[in-house]
Amino acid sequence: MTSFREFAEACKTIEATPGSLDMTEQVAELLARVTPEELPVVTHFVMGEIFPAWSSEEIGVGAGILYNALAKSAGLAVSDIKGLVRETGDIGKTAVKALEKVSSGQVTFSSFMDESDELSVLEVFERFKAISKANGKGSQASRIKNLQYLFNSSSPEEVGYIARLAVEELRIGVGEGIVKDAISRAFDVPSQEVERSFMLTNDLGLVAITAKKGGRDAVLSLGLELNRPIRMMLAQVTPDLDTALADIGTAAVEWKFDGARVQIHKEGDNVTLFSRRLENITDSLPDIVEAVKENVKADSAILDGEAVAIDENGRPRAFQDILKRFRRKYDVQSTAREIPLILNIFDIMYLNNEELIDLPLTQRREKLADCVINDARIKVDTQYVTDDPDEILKIYNDALKAGHEGVMIKNPDSPYSPGKRGKNWLKKKPVMETLDLVVIGAEWGYGRRTSFLGSYALACHDPETGRFLPVGRVATGFSDEQLAELTELFSDLIVIESGTEVEIRPEIIFEVAFEEIQKSVNYESGYALRFPRLVNVRSDKSLEDVESIDRLEEMYLMQRERNGK
Ligand code: AMP
Repeated sequence: MTSFREFAEACKTIEATPGSLDMTEQVAELLARVTPEELPVVTHFVMGEIFPAWSSEEIGVGAGILYNALAKSAGLAVSDIKGLVRETGDIGKTAVKALEKVSSGQVTFSSFMDESDELSVLEVFERFKAISKANGKGSQASRIKNLQYLFNSSSPEEVGYIARLAVEELRIGVGEGIVKDAISRAFDVPSQEVERSFMLTNDLGLVAITAKKGGRDAVLSLGLELNRPIRMMLAQVTPDLDTALADIGTAAVEWKFDGARVQIHKEGDNVTLFSRRLENITDSLPDIVEAVKENVKADSAILDGEAVAIDENGRPRAFQDILKRFRRKYDVQSTAREIPLILNIFDIMYLNNEELIDLPLTQRREKLADCVINDARIKVDTQYVTDDPDEILKIYNDALKAGHEGVMIKNPDSPYSPGKRGKNWLKKKPVMETLDLVVIGAEWGYGRRTSFLGSYALACHDPETGRFLPVGRVATGFSDEQLAELTELFSDLIVIESGTEVEIRPEIIFEVAFEEIQKSVNYESGYALRFPRLVNVRSDKSLEDVESIDRLEEMYLMQRERNGK
C-alpha cells in the first residue's frame, strides 16, 4: 500500500528535478513501485488529474469550495484564506500555511498520527470520488466535509498536494509526454506502442496497468472502444494549394467547415458526443444526438465531424455561438432552438464492431456515405478527389463564399492517425496579417516554468485617449530560451505584482499572428484574437508602431467581407 505521504514526497522530488529525463526517471520509479490497484490512480494523480480527461466523472471542486474547506479545517475565515492566496499566489502553499497556523497554535490530527493512520493514495482517491458523486441539495456541504476530512488527516507536507489535486492543478511539471516515457521505461514497452495505445484509449492509467500486467503484447492489443474517445486526427497548415498538391498528389478535398469538432460514438440507440478536447458534451447537444440516432444507420459507429452553428440563411455563425452550445449545461433545449447546429461528418473510425482506422480514407469515406442519411441537421458533404489546381481553387473559393474557413486537402490513401498532425491532412485558410501589439502584463508560469514570465497580455493603441486597450493574451510560440530572455527583459518593467499576475510598463512590442479577430466583451478594446501566437519580438519598433484600435476594426471588417459574413 502506498501512503499519500509517499506520493507527496515523490511529487516534491519530481518538482525539484530540473531536467525532463531525470523527471521521467523519477516518475518511472514511482509507477513501478505502486501496487496494480494504485497504478491507474497514481498515473493520473501525477499529471494532476483525478479521472481520465474524457471521463464524465468530474471532481467539481472550484476555488469557493476549496477556500471554504481550508477555512473550516484551519479554523480561519474564508477572507484569511483569500489573503493567503494573494500572499503566496499558490493554492498548495496557501493550504500549507493555513494548516501550519493550526498546528503551531494547537495540537492537531497530524501530530497524533502514527503510520497506520496515514492516508493512503487510494483513500484520497475514494474521497475525491465521493466528492465527484455528490450532487443536488447538500452537495456543497458534502464536498467540503470530504475535503476537510482529507486536510485534517494529513501532515503539512501532504495538504499542499491534496489542495492542488482537488482543483486538478498539481503543477509539478509532469504532463502526458513524461508519463508516456515513464510507462515505457517502467514496464519495458517501446515508446511508440505506448503512444499508439494512448491515442486509441486516451487513458494513460489504463495503458500503465495494461503494460504492467501484460507487457508489450497486452499494450498492442488495446484498441478502440465505444464511448471512450479517440484522440482527434489533426491537420497541418499548407502555405498554398500548389504546395499541398505537390505534397499529396491526387487529393481528397473537402470544405473546411467553420465550426467545432465533434466525435460521435453510437452504440445502438445510445449516442455519446465528445469535443475536440475530448470532453463529454452529449448533454449539451440533444439535437445532434437525435439526428445521429435517426440518420446514422449502423449498430455501432465512431464518427468524426464538425458541428456548425447556422443562421437563418444557413450560413455559419460566429465561433462564440457554437461555444455557447457546447458549454451549455442549463436551458439546453432553448439554446438549441436559438442556435441551431448542422453536423458535417467527414470520417468514420469504427463500424459495426470493426475498427476502420487502418483503411485508406477513400474506403472509409465510402462506408461513411453508406451509413449516413443526409438531411438538414446532419450530412456527409461532398469530397472531391482531384489533382487539378483550378478545381481545388474553385472549391476553396466556394467554401469561403459560403462563410466557411477554407479547404482540407487530404491524402486519399491515408489511415486515420489518432492524435497525429501530419501531411495526410493539410489545411488551407486565407493568410492573415500579423499585428504589432504592446505587452502590458504577464503571468508567472508554473512547474518547470515558475521562474519564467509567460502568458503575455497585449494591447492596441487608442489614438483618441492615448491609452492602450487590451486585446487578449499570447501564451504560445515561445521556446524556453526565449522565455528566459523575455523574463529578464520584462523584470525591469514590472509595475505591480498581484499573486502570479504582473502589470508591465508598455514598452516591448510583440508581432503576433492569429487565426481570426473576434468581437469580444472580455477586453476593453472590444476585440479579441483567436489563437494568437508570437511571431517576433519587435525590438526594432517603438510605441508609435503599436496598431491602433481603428486598424483592428478595419481588419475585422475585411475579414468579415472575405468570409462573406
Ligand atoms: P484548425 O482548427 O485550424 O487546426 O483546423 C483543423 C480543424 O478543422 C479540425 O480540428 C476540425 O475541427 C476542422 N474541420 C473543418 N472541416 C473539416 C474537414 N472537412 N476535415 C477535417 N477537419 C475539419
